[in-house]
Amino acid sequence: MNTEPLILCESLVKIYRLNQEGGGSVEVQALQGMDMTVSEGEMLGIVGASGSGKSTLLNVLGGLDHPTGGRALIAKQDLGQLSPAALDLFRRKTVGFVWQQGARNLISYLTALENIELPLTLSGQVGRAADQRALELLDLVGLSERKNHRLEELSGGEQQRVAIAIALANRPRLLLADEPTGELDTATAQTIYDLLRRLNKQLGLTIVIVSHDPGIARHVDRVVAVRDGKLASETLRVQKVDSDEHHLVELAVVDAAGRLQIPREYLEQFNIRRRVQVELTEEGILIRPPEREHHSHDQTSALSPNEQESTAFETKVAPSRLWKVWQSLKSRFTRPAQNHNGDEK
Ligand code: ADP
Ligand code: MG
Repeated sequence: MNTEPLILCESLVKIYRLNQEGGGSVEVQALQGMDMTVSEGEMLGIVGASGSGKSTLLNVLGGLDHPTGGRALIAKQDLGQLSPAALDLFRRKTVGFVWQQGARNLISYLTALENIELPLTLSGQVGRAADQRALELLDLVGLSERKNHRLEELSGGEQQRVAIAIALANRPRLLLADEPTGELDTATAQTIYDLLRRLNKQLGLTIVIVSHDPGIARHVDRVVAVRDGKLASETLRVQKVDSDEHHLVELAVVDAAGRLQIPREYLEQFNIRRRVQVELTEEGILIRPPEREHHSHDQTSALSPNEQESTAFETKVAPSRLWKVWQSLKSRFTRPAQNHNGDEK
């Protein structure tokens, strides 16, 4: 695998502005500073909850949507800076797209072959050359024997193969697939993943697949998880020592500013809300809930009104070196607070 990045996203931001009835507008931050690198020849999976920004990312990478901020470089071209003509060329020459409903852009009463010839003809290839290329593409996706079947006679998986053949017609360097198996059963999905893997190896094609299926990790080199428009974690396949077997390792991602997303279930397990204590230990960095006595005046908003009042008072009258004395005095005169387990309720 070539190590030169084909895709480089730096602090990529995409904001949609929606006009509301009666004036005014709301903003949706679909991408909130996404950093991502994909090597040439890599096969990458993107997973994440619905609405996390996966399709937006793919649309920006495919030149279908303009980034609001940050940079998206593909094959060294900064998509945000391309002229409309250059962007059009980029879409036609550099990327191919496959959608969830592969057959959406296909014509049901034309044969598989005719469906592939049609876009070739529209892009200027005619006659025998177009014929030849269409046959080649059908062969590439393993559908030669079905060439004369009308689209409506093909299964969902076969229709998706036709869509993949069309996406490859212009020999793109990058194939972007948005939930290509979303409407297929598991067994058929498997055959599509296998096909994409073969194309990846055979053509050296870089492939980015968005998927709902966490099991996609088995089919790709690397999976990145997107949360709230940012990269949250990466899952890598690591080869076991002295064996051909692989196991999967999930790693949290540190962004360019040193920020880290911690899995939500970990935060919940330790009842971590807004702040944590970060400590250096010999083995690494320990992140844990703040200790009660380390609370200071600027977290009063996380407390109930009663607690806020007493904390504000404590901050005024009790300098930190007297904190423990004050605490022991206070505990003699007041009932224990409801939350004494060190959390920030
Ligand atoms: P995913 O593919 O992960 O489900 P999307 O990228 O489609 O997520 O959407 C991310 C967020 O951006 C969502 O809140 C979605 O509603 C919003 N969004 C996506 N496309 C548009 C658009 N064209 N106009 C306005 N908001 C959009
Ligand atoms: Mg989507």
